[in-house]
Amino acid sequence: RGTTPVPPDVRPRLTVLSGPSGVGKSTVVAHMRKEHPEVWLSVSATTRKPRPGEQHGVHYFFVTDDEMDKLIANGELLEWAEFAGNRYGTPRAAVLERLDAGEPVLLEIDLQGARQVRASMPEAQLVFLAPPTWEELVRRLTGRGTEAPEVIERRLGAAKVELAAEPEFDNTLVNTSVEDVARELLALMDVV
Ligand code: 5GP
Repeated sequence: RGTTPVPPDVRPRLTVLSGPSGVGKSTVVAHMRKEHPEVWLSVSATTRKPRPGEQHGVHYFFVTDDEMDKLIANGELLEWAEFAGNRYGTPRAAVLERLDAGEPVLLEIDLQGARQVRASMPEAQLVFLAPPTWEELVRRLTGRGTEAPEVIERRLGAAKVELAAEPEFDNTLVNTSVEDVARELLALMDVV
């Protein structure tokens, strides 16, 4: 592509934002990217069906089970995980391309994915987004209104397990205000 790869020592680190489902990761990321579109957010592949308003190639690449099988078998995913009955994965090539070009890269993925990134790219920085309280997380998960009760139950179960993983992360941000957290995340990514 005619660009010289940035040497690894001055390369911005890959940043992984993780945390329980419903904690507000996508809201924080959306807010951050409105002001800093230069932060490149990886678009994941998922077997989940689109929610109203979600666009293919923007929010996710919506794929079939067969397509996901192929992505995994061909080693095209940097990490992947099964979450609440669907599979999600990060396309590898695009992430490595952006890092080589010296651009800040952000992944917004679940805990299992964050662990895989830690194992394969130890230089990545892992950021945990925590809810102000457990009650607040339950309120947000229940209030989304787009999910069936049994889906919410599954997500609450997953959230409990995910909250316990906080000590594995390099940094924790508490989601009290979207603006504050977005600013803190940008600072951690050296984007100012
Ligand atoms: P949702 O279905 O609410 O969009 O996402 C469910 C969970 O999957 C969230 O915690 C989200 O961060 C996570 N997720 C989204 N994309 C990926 C991915 O590519 N890999 C992994 N491991 N998790 C992902």
